[in-house]
Amino acid sequence: MRKIAVLTSGGDSPGMNSCIRAVVRYAISQGLEIFGIKRGYQGLIEDDMELMSIRSVGNIIQQGGTILKTARCKEFKQDEVIDKAVQILRNRGIEGLVVIGGDGTFRGAERLIERGILCACIPATIDNNLFYTDYTLGFDTATNTVVDLINKVRDTSLSHDRVFIAETMGAGCGDLALKAGLAAGADMVIVPEVSCNVDDIVKKLLYAKSQNKKFSMIVLSEKVFDTNELKKVLTEKSGIECRTIVFGHIQRGGSPSAFDRNLGINFGVRAVQELMNGNCGVVGYKDGQYIYDTIEFALSVKQNFNYEEYKLIETLSI
Ligand code: ADP
Repeated sequence: MRKIAVLTSGGDSPGMNSCIRAVVRYAISQGLEIFGIKRGYQGLIEDDMELMSIRSVGNIIQQGGTILKTARCKEFKQDEVIDKAVQILRNRGIEGLVVIGGDGTFRGAERLIERGILCACIPATIDNNLFYTDYTLGFDTATNTVVDLINKVRDTSLSHDRVFIAETMGAGCGDLALKAGLAAGADMVIVPEVSCNVDDIVKKLLYAKSQNKKFSMIVLSEKVFDTNELKKVLTEKSGIECRTIVFGHIQRGGSPSAFDRNLGINFGVRAVQELMNGNCGVVGYKDGQYIYDTIEFALSVKQNFNYEEYKLIETLSI
């Protein structure tokens, strides 16, 4: 193998740049030529790529986002569009691809592998919703960001004796709400993995009030409830003033944590090594070890929620 390429696709996450830097510099150290494809699969089908150098990834390790940019490319699900992508790679003599993104991005890579392009995938999303790995790239930074935001909300809501509902991202996975909620001392965490009804929340709020606790922090993973509707119903039923805050895209930004930078570096180097050995698959981090497995396996793991930690929220609140 002489030429490979790297792209970032789907939602961006902090640590992608650290990973790109490692991929590029490690590949060059091994005598490979490496191209950076712009805007994920969209850039691939437009042949929008450039030869990377040691210098082109200088001074990016500390930056959030992705210097390669990212995009969502709907057409990439069509056979003829994927065939075109394969042709573009073949014309340039590119035999392998490092693909950095989430589950959708992995599905795109599967289609390229079917057509003979070697792909090594790297899990990158703040949602941690790829369950074969304990950590996806960006999750740790986003968790720290949410903890910091909750700390700030806590200052104001303590001063006003208010209940706050803080909505986090999650895309069907409660890890961000759970880990940030636990670390920020939340009183309740509402996640898709655990069913929860409004009357239970009201009961907990009223009990907290009876214990002279005037402030409560509820961390809500997006889409489990409509946040504003929940606020309305809780305020009506409990008689306690509730406020909401939706953290939104701030959770995706910021300088990556040391953990995410190191994860990105290890993921990136391993991905290039596996490509050089002709292995398609996904890197991951499981029980303290870096792993490499198939995309099929990665996408087949449906759950990795830590119910023990979830129970601790209740045990440690009030
Ligand atoms: P993420 O990778 O963060 O999960 P998306 O689900 O938006 O983000 O997927 C990123 C991109 O991957 C999509 O815009 C599309 O180009 C490609 N993709 C997603 N699903 C498929 C699929 N089933 N087949 C081919 N390409 C796909």
